[in-house]
Amino acid sequence: MQQNLTLDQIQNFEGKYPKQLWYLFFSEMWERFCFYGMRGMLTFFMINQLFMDEKVANLQYGATQAFVYAFTFIGGLFADKILGFRKSLFWGGLLMITGSCILAVDPKQFFFLGISFNIIGTGFFKPNISTMVGALYKNGDVRRDAGFSLFYSGINVGALLGGYACIAIGKGTFLTSIVPPHLTWNVAFALAAIVMTISLITFTYTRRSMGPIGLSPFEAANGENAENSKKWYEYVVYLGALAVVPVIMKMVANTQYTDWFMYIIGPFSLLYLFYEMTKHTAAEVKKLIAALLFILFSVVFWAIFEQAGGSLSIFAANNVGDKLFGAITLDPNGVNNAANSLFVIIFAPLLGLIWIAMAKKKIEPNTVVKFGLGFLFLGFAFYTFYATRFFADLRGMTSLDIFTLAYFIVTLGELCLSPIGLSIMTKLSPTRLQGIMMGMWFLASAYGQYVAGLFGASIVSDVENATAMDKLISYTEGYKQFALYAIIAGVILIVISPLMRKLMQDVK
Ligand code: GLN
Repeated sequence: MQQNLTLDQIQNFEGKYPKQLWYLFFSEMWERFCFYGMRGMLTFFMINQLFMDEKVANLQYGATQAFVYAFTFIGGLFADKILGFRKSLFWGGLLMITGSCILAVDPKQFFFLGISFNIIGTGFFKPNISTMVGALYKNGDVRRDAGFSLFYSGINVGALLGGYACIAIGKGTFLTSIVPPHLTWNVAFALAAIVMTISLITFTYTRRSMGPIGLSPFEAANGENAENSKKWYEYVVYLGALAVVPVIMKMVANTQYTDWFMYIIGPFSLLYLFYEMTKHTAAEVKKLIAALLFILFSVVFWAIFEQAGGSLSIFAANNVGDKLFGAITLDPNGVNNAANSLFVIIFAPLLGLIWIAMAKKKIEPNTVVKFGLGFLFLGFAFYTFYATRFFADLRGMTSLDIFTLAYFIVTLGELCLSPIGLSIMTKLSPTRLQGIMMGMWFLASAYGQYVAGLFGASIVSDVENATAMDKLISYTEGYKQFALYAIIAGVILIVISPLMRKLMQDVK
Protein backbone atom coordinates (compact mmCIF):
# COMPACT_ATOMS: atom_id res chain seq x y z
CA MET A 1 0.00 0.00 0.00
CA GLN A 2 1.50 3.33 -1.10
CA GLN A 3 2.32 5.69 1.74
CA ASN A 4 3.20 9.33 2.38
CA LEU A 5 1.14 10.78 -0.42
CA THR A 6 0.55 14.51 -0.23
CA LEU A 7 -2.93 15.97 -0.47
CA ASP A 8 -2.06 17.39 -3.89
CA GLN A 9 -0.94 14.01 -5.18
CA ILE A 10 -4.24 12.50 -4.06
CA GLN A 11 -6.44 15.28 -5.39
CA ASN A 12 -4.65 15.54 -8.74
CA PHE A 13 -5.69 12.03 -9.70
CA GLU A 14 -6.27 11.08 -13.29
CA GLY A 15 -9.44 9.49 -14.64
CA LYS A 16 -12.91 9.63 -13.21
CA TYR A 17 -12.37 8.44 -9.63
CA PRO A 18 -9.44 8.56 -7.19
CA LYS A 19 -8.40 5.03 -6.20
CA GLN A 20 -8.90 5.89 -2.53
CA LEU A 21 -12.59 6.26 -3.29
CA TRP A 22 -12.76 2.51 -3.90
CA TYR A 23 -11.23 1.80 -0.49
CA LEU A 24 -13.79 4.03 1.21
CA PHE A 25 -16.48 2.47 -0.99
CA PHE A 26 -15.75 -1.01 0.35
CA SER A 27 -15.38 0.02 4.00
CA GLU A 28 -18.70 1.84 3.80
CA MET A 29 -20.33 -1.00 1.90
CA TRP A 30 -19.67 -3.48 4.70
CA GLU A 31 -20.56 -0.99 7.40
CA ARG A 32 -23.92 -0.40 5.71
CA PHE A 33 -24.44 -4.18 5.46
CA CYS A 34 -24.15 -4.30 9.23
CA PHE A 35 -26.26 -1.19 9.77
CA TYR A 36 -29.09 -2.02 7.37
CA GLY A 37 -29.02 -5.67 8.32
CA MET A 38 -29.71 -4.59 11.86
CA ARG A 39 -32.16 -1.86 10.94
CA GLY A 40 -34.18 -4.31 8.87
CA MET A 41 -34.54 -6.62 11.86
CA LEU A 42 -35.40 -4.07 14.55
CA THR A 43 -39.13 -3.53 14.18
CA PHE A 44 -39.90 -7.12 13.27
CA PHE A 45 -37.77 -8.44 16.15
CA MET A 46 -39.41 -6.12 18.67
CA ILE A 47 -42.90 -7.24 17.67
CA ASN A 48 -42.28 -10.94 17.14
CA GLN A 49 -39.56 -11.74 19.64
CA LEU A 50 -39.90 -9.06 22.32
CA PHE A 51 -43.70 -9.06 21.94
CA MET A 52 -44.08 -5.30 21.79
CA ASP A 53 -47.24 -3.66 20.62
CA GLU A 54 -47.04 -2.28 17.02
CA LYS A 55 -47.38 1.31 18.17
CA VAL A 56 -44.63 0.92 20.75
CA ALA A 57 -42.39 -0.84 18.21
CA ASN A 58 -42.84 2.04 15.74
CA LEU A 59 -41.90 4.60 18.37
CA GLN A 60 -39.00 2.51 19.62
CA TYR A 61 -37.74 2.05 16.07
CA GLY A 62 -37.95 5.80 15.49
CA ALA A 63 -36.07 6.39 18.74
CA THR A 64 -33.17 4.05 17.89
CA GLN A 65 -32.80 5.51 14.44
CA ALA A 66 -33.06 9.05 15.74
CA PHE A 67 -30.25 8.32 18.18
CA VAL A 68 -28.11 6.68 15.51
CA TYR A 69 -28.24 9.75 13.34
CA ALA A 70 -28.11 12.23 16.22
CA PHE A 71 -24.80 10.67 17.22
CA THR A 72 -23.45 11.43 13.79
CA PHE A 73 -23.48 15.09 14.77
CA ILE A 74 -21.50 14.27 17.89
CA GLY A 75 -19.19 11.96 15.91
CA GLY A 76 -18.59 14.71 13.35
CA LEU A 77 -17.90 17.26 16.05
CA PHE A 78 -15.33 15.10 17.87
CA ALA A 79 -13.68 14.16 14.59
CA ASP A 80 -13.21 17.83 13.63
CA LYS A 81 -11.96 18.88 17.03
CA ILE A 82 -10.07 15.90 18.47
CA LEU A 83 -9.91 12.51 16.81
CA GLY A 84 -9.76 13.24 13.09
CA PHE A 85 -11.76 11.14 10.66
CA ARG A 86 -9.54 8.07 10.68
CA LYS A 87 -9.50 7.43 14.40
CA SER A 88 -13.21 8.20 14.58
CA LEU A 89 -13.90 5.59 11.95
CA PHE A 90 -11.79 3.00 13.66
CA TRP A 91 -13.35 3.59 17.03
CA GLY A 92 -16.85 3.62 15.58
CA GLY A 93 -16.16 0.34 13.80
CA LEU A 94 -14.95 -1.29 17.01
CA LEU A 95 -18.09 -0.22 18.85
CA MET A 96 -20.31 -1.55 16.09
CA ILE A 97 -18.55 -4.92 16.16
CA THR A 98 -18.96 -5.06 19.93
CA GLY A 99 -22.66 -4.22 19.70
CA SER A 100 -23.33 -6.82 17.03
CA CYS A 101 -21.43 -9.50 19.00
CA ILE A 102 -23.48 -8.73 22.11
CA LEU A 103 -26.67 -9.14 20.09
CA ALA A 104 -25.40 -12.36 18.55
CA VAL A 105 -24.90 -13.88 22.01
CA ASP A 106 -28.43 -13.24 23.26
CA PRO A 107 -30.49 -10.80 21.22
CA LYS A 108 -33.52 -10.95 23.51
CA GLN A 109 -31.76 -10.34 26.78
CA PHE A 110 -29.15 -7.83 25.53
CA PHE A 111 -31.25 -6.14 22.89
CA PHE A 112 -30.95 -2.56 24.09
CA LEU A 113 -27.32 -2.94 25.19
CA GLY A 114 -26.23 -4.19 21.78
CA ILE A 115 -28.27 -1.56 19.97
CA SER A 116 -26.72 1.20 22.10
CA PHE A 117 -23.19 0.17 21.11
CA ASN A 118 -24.25 0.22 17.49
CA ILE A 119 -25.84 3.64 17.84
CA ILE A 120 -22.68 5.23 19.20
CA GLY A 121 -20.44 3.32 16.81
CA THR A 122 -22.39 4.44 13.77
CA GLY A 123 -22.18 8.02 15.04
CA PHE A 124 -18.39 7.88 14.91
CA PHE A 125 -18.22 6.01 11.61
CA LYS A 126 -20.91 7.23 9.28
CA PRO A 127 -20.50 11.00 8.86
CA ASN A 128 -16.73 10.85 8.84
CA ILE A 129 -16.31 8.37 6.04
CA SER A 130 -18.58 10.58 3.89
CA THR A 131 -16.47 13.64 4.69
CA MET A 132 -13.31 11.73 3.74
CA VAL A 133 -14.82 11.14 0.30
CA GLY A 134 -15.25 14.91 -0.08
CA ALA A 135 -11.63 15.46 0.97
CA LEU A 136 -10.39 13.45 -2.03
CA TYR A 137 -11.43 16.32 -4.31
CA LYS A 138 -10.15 19.85 -4.80
CA ASN A 139 -12.60 22.72 -4.53
CA GLY A 140 -14.42 23.09 -7.81
CA ASP A 141 -13.49 19.61 -9.11
CA VAL A 142 -16.47 18.68 -11.30
CA ARG A 143 -15.87 14.96 -10.64
CA ARG A 144 -16.99 15.27 -7.01
CA ASP A 145 -20.70 14.54 -7.59
CA ALA A 146 -19.84 11.45 -9.63
CA GLY A 147 -17.61 10.30 -6.77
CA PHE A 148 -20.45 10.65 -4.28
CA SER A 149 -22.78 8.80 -6.66
CA LEU A 150 -20.38 5.89 -6.80
CA PHE A 151 -19.94 5.95 -3.05
CA TYR A 152 -23.72 5.97 -2.70
CA SER A 153 -23.90 2.83 -4.82
CA GLY A 154 -21.45 1.21 -2.39
CA ILE A 155 -23.72 2.18 0.49
CA ASN A 156 -26.57 0.47 -1.25
CA VAL A 157 -24.75 -2.70 -2.24
CA GLY A 158 -24.16 -3.18 1.49
CA ALA A 159 -27.70 -2.16 2.37
CA LEU A 160 -29.12 -4.57 -0.19
CA LEU A 161 -27.15 -7.60 0.91
CA GLY A 162 -27.52 -6.90 4.63
CA GLY A 163 -31.11 -5.72 4.39
CA TYR A 164 -32.20 -8.94 2.72
CA ALA A 165 -29.92 -11.51 4.32
CA CYS A 166 -30.22 -10.62 8.00
CA ILE A 167 -34.01 -10.43 8.33
CA ALA A 168 -34.51 -13.46 6.09
CA ILE A 169 -32.04 -15.52 8.19
CA GLY A 170 -33.68 -14.24 11.38
CA LYS A 171 -37.19 -15.10 10.21
CA GLY A 172 -35.92 -18.52 9.12
CA THR A 173 -36.68 -18.11 5.40
CA PHE A 174 -33.08 -18.06 4.12
CA LEU A 175 -30.16 -20.50 4.53
CA THR A 176 -32.51 -22.77 6.43
CA SER A 177 -30.41 -25.84 5.67
CA ILE A 178 -27.39 -24.53 7.59
CA VAL A 179 -28.88 -22.31 10.29
CA PRO A 180 -30.43 -24.20 13.23
CA PRO A 181 -34.03 -22.97 13.73
CA HIS A 182 -33.51 -22.00 17.39
CA LEU A 183 -30.46 -19.86 16.53
CA THR A 184 -31.70 -17.91 13.52
CA TRP A 185 -31.62 -14.51 15.24
CA ASN A 186 -28.22 -15.15 16.83
CA VAL A 187 -26.77 -16.03 13.43
CA ALA A 188 -28.38 -12.99 11.80
CA PHE A 189 -26.77 -10.64 14.33
CA ALA A 190 -23.47 -12.55 14.16
CA LEU A 191 -23.42 -11.97 10.42
CA ALA A 192 -23.62 -8.23 11.07
CA ALA A 193 -20.60 -8.54 13.39
CA ILE A 194 -18.59 -10.47 10.81
CA VAL A 195 -19.17 -8.01 7.99
CA MET A 196 -18.38 -5.06 10.25
CA THR A 197 -15.05 -6.71 10.98
CA ILE A 198 -14.42 -6.96 7.24
CA SER A 199 -15.21 -3.22 6.96
CA LEU A 200 -12.72 -2.36 9.65
CA ILE A 201 -9.99 -4.56 8.18
CA THR A 202 -10.53 -2.97 4.77
CA PHE A 203 -10.22 0.48 6.27
CA THR A 204 -7.18 -0.34 8.39
CA TYR A 205 -5.38 -1.94 5.52
CA THR A 206 -5.96 0.97 3.10
CA ARG A 207 -5.82 4.01 5.35
CA ARG A 208 -2.13 4.68 4.68
CA SER A 209 -3.04 5.61 1.11
CA MET A 210 -5.05 8.58 2.39
CA GLY A 211 -2.02 10.84 2.91
CA PRO A 212 -2.92 13.55 5.39
CA ILE A 213 -6.68 13.08 4.89
CA GLY A 214 -8.44 12.22 8.13
CA LEU A 215 -5.55 12.89 10.51
CA SER A 216 -6.56 14.44 13.81
CA PRO A 217 -6.26 18.23 14.01
CA PHE A 218 -3.24 17.78 16.30
CA GLU A 219 -1.52 15.37 13.92
CA ALA A 220 -2.34 17.62 10.98
CA ALA A 221 -0.64 20.51 12.77
CA ASN A 222 2.40 18.59 14.01
CA GLY A 223 2.86 15.62 11.69
CA GLU A 224 1.58 12.11 12.24
CA ASN A 225 3.61 11.66 15.41
CA ALA A 226 1.92 14.51 17.22
CA GLU A 227 3.08 15.12 20.72
CA ASN A 228 1.56 12.84 23.25
CA SER A 229 0.32 15.63 25.48
CA LYS A 230 -2.89 15.82 23.46
CA LYS A 231 -3.44 12.07 23.63
CA TRP A 232 -5.50 12.32 26.73
CA TYR A 233 -8.16 14.30 24.82
CA GLU A 234 -8.60 11.19 22.71
CA TYR A 235 -8.84 8.90 25.71
CA VAL A 236 -11.49 11.15 27.23
CA VAL A 237 -13.54 10.81 24.03
CA TYR A 238 -13.18 7.02 24.05
CA LEU A 239 -14.08 6.72 27.71
CA GLY A 240 -16.92 9.23 27.34
CA ALA A 241 -18.37 7.17 24.49
CA LEU A 242 -18.33 4.04 26.65
CA ALA A 243 -19.77 5.89 29.62
CA VAL A 244 -22.83 7.00 27.66
CA VAL A 245 -23.75 3.45 26.61
CA PRO A 246 -25.94 2.81 29.69
CA VAL A 247 -27.48 6.26 29.31
CA ILE A 248 -28.42 5.61 25.69
CA MET A 249 -29.78 2.23 26.72
CA LYS A 250 -32.18 3.85 29.13
CA MET A 251 -33.12 6.59 26.73
CA VAL A 252 -33.88 4.32 23.80
CA ALA A 253 -35.90 1.95 25.95
CA ASN A 254 -38.01 4.85 27.17
CA THR A 255 -39.10 6.90 24.18
CA GLN A 256 -40.07 9.82 26.40
CA TYR A 257 -36.35 10.42 27.04
CA THR A 258 -35.81 10.34 23.31
CA ASP A 259 -38.28 13.21 23.03
CA TRP A 260 -36.21 15.29 25.46
CA PHE A 261 -32.98 14.41 23.76
CA MET A 262 -34.39 15.45 20.40
CA TYR A 263 -35.68 18.72 21.83
CA ILE A 264 -32.18 19.53 23.06
CA ILE A 265 -29.74 18.29 20.43
CA GLY A 266 -31.26 20.20 17.47
CA PRO A 267 -31.34 23.65 19.10
CA PHE A 268 -27.89 22.98 20.59
CA SER A 269 -26.41 22.13 17.21
CA LEU A 270 -28.00 25.23 15.68
CA LEU A 271 -26.62 27.47 18.42
CA TYR A 272 -23.22 25.91 17.98
CA LEU A 273 -23.35 26.49 14.24
CA PHE A 274 -24.37 30.12 14.74
CA TYR A 275 -21.43 30.54 17.12
CA GLU A 276 -19.07 29.03 14.51
CA MET A 277 -20.55 31.36 11.89
CA THR A 278 -19.30 34.38 13.82
CA LYS A 279 -15.75 33.19 13.03
CA HIS A 280 -16.31 33.09 9.27
CA THR A 281 -16.60 35.62 6.45
CA ALA A 282 -19.98 36.86 5.16
CA ALA A 283 -19.59 34.80 1.97
CA GLU A 284 -18.88 31.64 3.97
CA VAL A 285 -21.82 32.35 6.27
CA LYS A 286 -24.18 32.66 3.29
CA LYS A 287 -23.07 29.23 2.10
CA LEU A 288 -23.58 27.79 5.57
CA ILE A 289 -27.11 29.22 5.63
CA ALA A 290 -27.81 27.57 2.28
CA ALA A 291 -26.47 24.29 3.71
CA LEU A 292 -28.75 24.72 6.71
CA LEU A 293 -31.80 25.21 4.48
CA PHE A 294 -30.97 22.00 2.61
CA ILE A 295 -30.62 20.29 5.95
CA LEU A 296 -33.99 21.54 7.23
CA PHE A 297 -35.85 20.42 4.11
CA SER A 298 -34.22 17.02 4.28
CA VAL A 299 -35.88 16.44 7.68
CA VAL A 300 -39.25 16.33 5.92
CA PHE A 301 -37.88 14.05 3.25
CA TRP A 302 -36.49 11.49 5.69
CA ALA A 303 -39.59 11.61 7.91
CA ILE A 304 -41.55 10.22 4.99
CA PHE A 305 -38.84 8.13 3.37
CA GLU A 306 -37.96 6.38 6.61
CA GLN A 307 -41.38 4.79 6.92
CA ALA A 308 -39.36 2.05 5.21
CA GLY A 309 -37.93 0.64 8.40
CA GLY A 310 -41.01 1.30 10.56
CA SER A 311 -44.57 1.33 9.27
CA LEU A 312 -43.73 -0.08 5.83
CA SER A 313 -41.98 -2.99 7.46
CA ILE A 314 -45.16 -3.75 9.43
CA PHE A 315 -47.28 -3.15 6.33
CA ALA A 316 -45.09 -5.58 4.37
CA ALA A 317 -45.48 -8.23 7.08
CA ASN A 318 -49.27 -7.83 7.42
CA ASN A 319 -50.54 -6.80 4.03
CA VAL A 320 -48.15 -7.56 1.19
CA GLY A 321 -48.16 -10.83 -0.75
CA ASP A 322 -45.02 -12.78 -1.59
CA LYS A 323 -45.31 -13.16 -5.37
CA LEU A 324 -43.43 -10.89 -7.74
CA PHE A 325 -44.84 -10.89 -11.30
CA GLY A 326 -47.10 -13.71 -10.20
CA ALA A 327 -44.20 -16.16 -10.30
CA ILE A 328 -41.19 -15.36 -8.15
CA THR A 329 -41.68 -16.00 -4.42
CA LEU A 330 -39.95 -13.43 -2.21
CA ASP A 331 -40.17 -12.51 1.46
CA PRO A 332 -42.11 -9.19 1.41
CA ASN A 333 -40.00 -7.89 4.33
CA GLY A 334 -36.87 -8.79 2.44
CA VAL A 335 -38.22 -6.85 -0.53
CA ASN A 336 -39.12 -3.95 1.76
CA ASN A 337 -35.53 -3.82 2.99
CA ALA A 338 -33.76 -4.50 -0.26
CA ALA A 339 -35.77 -3.13 -3.24
CA ASN A 340 -34.75 0.47 -2.61
CA SER A 341 -31.05 -0.40 -2.55
CA LEU A 342 -31.29 -2.56 -5.64
CA PHE A 343 -32.89 0.30 -7.52
CA VAL A 344 -30.22 2.73 -6.29
CA ILE A 345 -27.48 0.44 -7.58
CA ILE A 346 -29.15 0.11 -10.97
CA PHE A 347 -30.36 3.65 -11.44
CA ALA A 348 -27.71 5.83 -9.76
CA PRO A 349 -25.30 5.43 -12.72
CA LEU A 350 -28.16 5.93 -15.18
CA LEU A 351 -29.31 9.12 -13.51
CA GLY A 352 -25.67 10.29 -13.47
CA LEU A 353 -25.59 9.84 -17.26
CA ILE A 354 -28.88 11.71 -17.62
CA TRP A 355 -27.50 14.66 -15.61
CA ILE A 356 -24.36 14.70 -17.78
CA ALA A 357 -26.41 14.60 -21.00
CA MET A 358 -28.62 17.42 -19.70
CA ALA A 359 -25.54 19.42 -18.66
CA LYS A 360 -24.20 19.14 -22.21
CA LYS A 361 -27.45 20.66 -23.50
CA LYS A 362 -27.25 23.22 -20.67
CA ILE A 363 -30.59 22.06 -19.24
CA GLU A 364 -29.32 20.23 -16.14
CA PRO A 365 -31.47 21.28 -13.15
CA ASN A 366 -29.46 22.95 -10.39
CA THR A 367 -29.02 21.33 -6.98
CA VAL A 368 -32.01 23.11 -5.46
CA VAL A 369 -34.37 22.05 -8.23
CA LYS A 370 -33.02 18.49 -7.99
CA PHE A 371 -33.92 18.55 -4.31
CA GLY A 372 -37.42 19.76 -5.25
CA LEU A 373 -37.75 16.95 -7.78
CA GLY A 374 -36.68 14.52 -5.07
CA PHE A 375 -39.72 15.57 -3.04
CA LEU A 376 -42.08 15.32 -6.00
CA PHE A 377 -40.94 11.76 -6.70
CA LEU A 378 -41.34 10.95 -3.03
CA GLY A 379 -44.90 12.28 -3.19
CA PHE A 380 -45.74 10.13 -6.25
CA ALA A 381 -44.23 7.13 -4.53
CA PHE A 382 -46.39 7.53 -1.45
CA TYR A 383 -49.48 7.95 -3.64
CA THR A 384 -48.45 4.59 -5.09
CA PHE A 385 -48.19 3.03 -1.61
CA TYR A 386 -51.68 4.45 -1.05
CA ALA A 387 -52.83 2.89 -4.33
CA THR A 388 -51.82 -0.60 -3.14
CA ARG A 389 -55.24 -0.66 -1.40
CA PHE A 390 -56.92 -0.90 -4.81
CA PHE A 391 -55.03 -4.12 -5.54
CA ALA A 392 -55.88 -5.91 -2.30
CA ASP A 393 -57.90 -9.13 -2.02
CA LEU A 394 -60.68 -9.64 0.53
CA ARG A 395 -58.19 -10.68 3.21
CA GLY A 396 -56.42 -7.34 2.91
CA MET A 397 -53.38 -8.77 1.10
CA THR A 398 -52.09 -6.53 -1.65
CA SER A 399 -49.76 -6.77 -4.60
CA LEU A 400 -46.01 -7.07 -4.15
CA ASP A 401 -45.64 -5.69 -7.68
CA ILE A 402 -47.28 -2.33 -6.86
CA PHE A 403 -45.41 -2.20 -3.55
CA THR A 404 -42.13 -2.70 -5.43
CA LEU A 405 -43.11 -0.09 -8.03
CA ALA A 406 -43.61 2.44 -5.22
CA TYR A 407 -40.08 1.66 -4.02
CA PHE A 408 -38.78 2.32 -7.50
CA ILE A 409 -40.32 5.82 -7.42
CA VAL A 410 -39.07 6.43 -3.86
CA THR A 411 -35.60 5.64 -5.12
CA LEU A 412 -35.76 8.19 -7.94
CA GLY A 413 -36.60 10.75 -5.27
CA GLU A 414 -33.77 9.64 -3.03
CA LEU A 415 -31.26 9.85 -5.87
CA CYS A 416 -32.26 13.45 -6.56
CA LEU A 417 -31.59 14.36 -2.94
CA SER A 418 -29.33 12.13 -0.91
CA PRO A 419 -26.00 11.71 -2.77
CA ILE A 420 -26.29 15.31 -3.92
CA GLY A 421 -26.87 16.35 -0.32
CA LEU A 422 -23.63 14.70 0.81
CA SER A 423 -21.71 16.35 -1.97
CA ILE A 424 -23.22 19.80 -1.43
CA MET A 425 -22.38 19.66 2.30
CA THR A 426 -18.70 19.22 1.45
CA LYS A 427 -18.92 22.04 -1.11
CA LEU A 428 -20.68 24.56 1.11
CA SER A 429 -18.67 24.01 4.31
CA PRO A 430 -15.30 25.56 5.11
CA THR A 431 -12.59 22.98 5.96
CA ARG A 432 -12.82 23.47 9.71
CA LEU A 433 -16.52 22.67 9.75
CA GLN A 434 -16.66 19.76 7.29
CA GLY A 435 -17.25 17.06 9.91
CA ILE A 436 -19.82 19.06 11.83
CA MET A 437 -21.79 20.02 8.74
CA MET A 438 -21.84 16.41 7.57
CA GLY A 439 -22.97 15.51 11.09
CA MET A 440 -25.74 18.09 10.81
CA TRP A 441 -26.80 16.65 7.46
CA PHE A 442 -27.26 13.31 9.18
CA LEU A 443 -28.78 14.98 12.23
CA ALA A 444 -31.57 15.99 9.86
CA SER A 445 -32.00 12.28 9.20
CA ALA A 446 -32.24 11.84 12.97
CA TYR A 447 -35.14 14.26 13.13
CA GLY A 448 -36.56 12.60 10.05
CA GLN A 449 -36.34 9.21 11.75
CA TYR A 450 -37.83 10.57 14.91
CA VAL A 451 -40.78 12.12 13.09
CA ALA A 452 -41.01 8.95 10.97
CA GLY A 453 -41.64 6.99 14.17
CA LEU A 454 -44.36 9.44 15.23
CA PHE A 455 -45.92 9.40 11.76
CA GLY A 456 -45.73 5.61 11.71
CA ALA A 457 -47.36 5.27 15.12
CA SER A 458 -50.08 7.75 14.12
CA ILE A 459 -51.30 5.57 11.27
CA VAL A 460 -51.62 2.32 13.22
CA SER A 461 -55.26 1.20 13.15
CA ASP A 462 -57.20 2.16 16.29
CA VAL A 463 -59.66 -0.69 15.79
CA GLU A 464 -59.34 -3.28 18.55
CA ASN A 465 -58.16 -6.66 17.21
CA ALA A 466 -57.76 -4.99 13.83
CA THR A 467 -58.00 -7.32 10.83
CA ALA A 468 -55.48 -7.20 8.00
CA MET A 469 -58.07 -5.21 6.04
CA ASP A 470 -58.43 -2.61 8.82
CA LYS A 471 -54.66 -2.27 8.90
CA LEU A 472 -54.44 -1.90 5.14
CA ILE A 473 -56.98 0.92 5.15
CA SER A 474 -55.41 2.81 8.01
CA TYR A 475 -51.80 2.53 6.77
CA THR A 476 -52.60 3.45 3.19
CA GLU A 477 -54.70 6.43 4.32
CA GLY A 478 -51.59 7.64 6.18
CA TYR A 479 -49.44 7.19 3.06
CA LYS A 480 -51.82 9.45 1.12
CA GLN A 481 -51.28 12.19 3.72
CA PHE A 482 -47.48 11.82 3.55
CA ALA A 483 -47.63 12.06 -0.25
CA LEU A 484 -49.34 15.43 0.03
CA TYR A 485 -46.71 16.76 2.48
CA ALA A 486 -43.94 15.72 0.09
CA ILE A 487 -45.53 17.43 -2.89
CA ILE A 488 -46.00 20.66 -0.91
CA ALA A 489 -42.34 20.66 0.21
CA GLY A 490 -41.17 20.01 -3.36
CA VAL A 491 -43.16 22.91 -4.76
CA ILE A 492 -41.86 25.30 -2.06
CA LEU A 493 -38.25 24.31 -2.80
CA ILE A 494 -38.61 24.89 -6.51
CA VAL A 495 -40.23 28.28 -5.87
CA ILE A 496 -37.43 29.45 -3.54
CA SER A 497 -34.61 28.08 -5.69
CA PRO A 498 -33.45 31.51 -7.01
CA LEU A 499 -32.97 32.73 -3.42
CA MET A 500 -31.06 29.59 -2.47
CA ARG A 501 -28.76 29.95 -5.46
CA LYS A 502 -27.90 33.48 -4.42
CA LEU A 503 -26.80 32.17 -1.02
CA MET A 504 -24.74 29.41 -2.65
CA GLN A 505 -22.85 31.91 -4.86
CA ASP A 506 -20.24 30.06 -6.97
CA VAL A 507 -21.32 26.58 -5.71
CA LYS A 508 -23.53 24.76 -8.20
N1 GLN B 1 -29.32 5.48 2.58
C1 GLN B 1 -28.32 6.43 2.86
C2 GLN B 1 -27.25 5.89 3.76
O1 GLN B 1 -27.39 4.92 4.41
C3 GLN B 1 -28.89 7.71 3.45
C4 GLN B 1 -29.39 7.57 4.83
C5 GLN B 1 -29.81 8.87 5.44
O2 GLN B 1 -29.16 9.90 5.34
N2 GLN B 1 -30.89 8.87 6.13
O3 GLN B 1 -26.21 6.46 3.84
